[in-house]
Amino acid sequence: MDPSRSPSPSRYYLTTPIYYVNARPHLGHAYTTIIGDALARWHRLLGEEVRYLTGTDEHGLKIQQAADAAGTTPQEFTDRIAPLFQDAWRRLDISNDDFIRTTEPRHRLGVQQLLQRCYDAGDIELDLYAGKYCVACEEYYGDDELLEGDLCPIHKRPVEYFEEENWFFRLSRFQDRLLEWYAAHPGAIVPEFRGNEALGLIRGGLRDFSVSRTSLQWGIPLPWDPTHVAYVWFDALANYITAVGYGTDDERFRSWWPARHLIGKDIIRHHCVYWPAMLLSAGLEPPRGWAVGGWLLVGGEKMSKTSGNVVDPLDLVDDVGVDGFRYYVLAETTYGQDGDFTYEGLIARYNSDLANNLGNLLSRVATVVTKTCGGVGPAPSPSSPLAGAAAAAYEASAAAWADVQPNRALEATWSLIRATNAYLEANEPWKAEPGPVVDAVMGDALEALRIVAVLASPALPTTSQAVWERIGLGGAVTDQRLPAAVAWGGYPGGLEVTKGAPLFPRKA
Ligand SMILES: [Zn+2]
Repeated sequence: MDPSRSPSPSRYYLTTPIYYVNARPHLGHAYTTIIGDALARWHRLLGEEVRYLTGTDEHGLKIQQAADAAGTTPQEFTDRIAPLFQDAWRRLDISNDDFIRTTEPRHRLGVQQLLQRCYDAGDIELDLYAGKYCVACEEYYGDDELLEGDLCPIHKRPVEYFEEENWFFRLSRFQDRLLEWYAAHPGAIVPEFRGNEALGLIRGGLRDFSVSRTSLQWGIPLPWDPTHVAYVWFDALANYITAVGYGTDDERFRSWWPARHLIGKDIIRHHCVYWPAMLLSAGLEPPRGWAVGGWLLVGGEKMSKTSGNVVDPLDLVDDVGVDGFRYYVLAETTYGQDGDFTYEGLIARYNSDLANNLGNLLSRVATVVTKTCGGVGPAPSPSSPLAGAAAAAYEASAAAWADVQPNRALEATWSLIRATNAYLEANEPWKAEPGPVVDAVMGDALEALRIVAVLASPALPTTSQAVWERIGLGGAVTDQRLPAAVAWGGYPGGLEVTKGAPLFPRKA
């Protein structure tokens, strides 16, 4: 782990979990993918070289079973579902740089190399496995983890007794190495309380886990024993390294790895315990960091096919637009905690923050500039009372994005919108005669809108570009670079301001 081989700090490699293709994309998938997209867009504004990865997890028993039930092959089945995810992300304006499918050759080669390295290190050994297994989780459970009546703690349905010869990863040998690594990398997991959960799992003792199955054909064969296919974790987790060239392009791999992972709280054990141990065994660096999210609940429950509360994000886009939906997902919930999705909450956020605050500000400014300033936006005053509010909004946004707290970042941006609306209400430019007094007020409001467009662009890419253009600015707001782009005084004045239709018509 020679530090000179680490990628430069201006590279930002971010991943979502890969999504299992036994279901169509739902609100839970969209939640994590939108958070990641906004983070990626923020880091691009900072001038970093960004790589944002998402993809699909396509092997395993459940896919085999679903394909059998549909009377098709697993490959044909996954070929049908994976594009639904790609299409959903396009429609939600997700700016991923890559989309990996675990059935791709680049992934198979990398998984086999990772397995071989861990096997050569002596950390993968043959053993008999017997235990209680949940088919839905593809996971064995100890008696202490099961619910009353031998029910899976996640699916609340009976587990099955399985016995088979498996290759095992000797996770039990990694307790000290993992604890040392985490002690040397404080804050690697955010929020902190989720990091403490991971440390608790490691201190509580680690069990070896099975890395292969003979009962299954739909997977990647072990390089030294092709009668077994790799099972779940070595296959799925490895996508984070195979997508940047592990096993196929080592130079490229070294230029990007390690990544930062966005994960859900239900996969802490696999991502924060199994995965760094696997990487250490193979002589690779653990991830640079993990940001652990809660669940977006619907009616207080985790969305699932069995509870019948699956929400299709694309239906919501029809109601409030892509940016309206993205804004709700980012602003409503504190990342790390569970959030509760309600349709009423979606509409309330849309009306208060987007229609009343942002939409109203743009509309007021454009109306006064059209009527009183001849349609030409004046320049801001260097000593504007809004300059301090703009600087504070940027500082607080930057700190919040760095902590993976999009709701705080947007709250900071909206505080500038509210300050600007209050400034207009105090000065009542709509009552003023044309002249330098109203020009100064409107120049300040236009400058605040310009800064808002930059700061809001990770959440609202289309709307921010529209604001940018309506106040007369050229080029793409995404080409702006922080912090220079939010320094007070950037609006040059003398630009044509366009009124246009309301950005966010109010919803009943
Ligand atoms: Zn289960």
